[in-house]
Amino acid sequence: MAQFPCYVCGSRYAGKQNTSYPAFVHGSLEFRETVRTCGPCTQRSSHLMASLAEADALSNGDAACNMCHLPGATVRLFLTTYWFGEDRADLYAHLCAECTTQHVAPVLVGLTDAMSVLPGP
Ligand SMILES: [Zn+2]
Ligand SMILES: [Zn+2]
Repeated sequence: MAQFPCYVCGSRYAGKQNTSYPAFVHGSLEFRETVRTCGPCTQRSSHLMASLAEADALSNGDAACNMCHLPGATVRLFLTTYWFGEDRADLYAHLCAECTTQHVAPVLVGLTDAMSVLPGP
């Protein structure tokens, strides 16, 4: 069976493709990628999405960070996922720089070039 390297953790895994399309947008800078992840990394992303979606539902569309709830969210996250065995899901979130670099980007895309277009801590 074909083996694929996980985009986030680098481990190789067989079968079950989990694909996501995250886009981090900060002003005119953006990072878009096609991300294929192993089971454990997909689980982590899935939990993160669930908590962000819940926060977004409670935020009434204000500009506070969906994760820490402080005002001044400067990063917009657009995420589409095709997890194995699940329907397509879409998520939109506002995030502050710190949550993006410390919590969200590491889970969704790992430590990659995404960091270079994102605001520093
Ligand atoms: Zn992984
Ligand atoms: Zn935050």
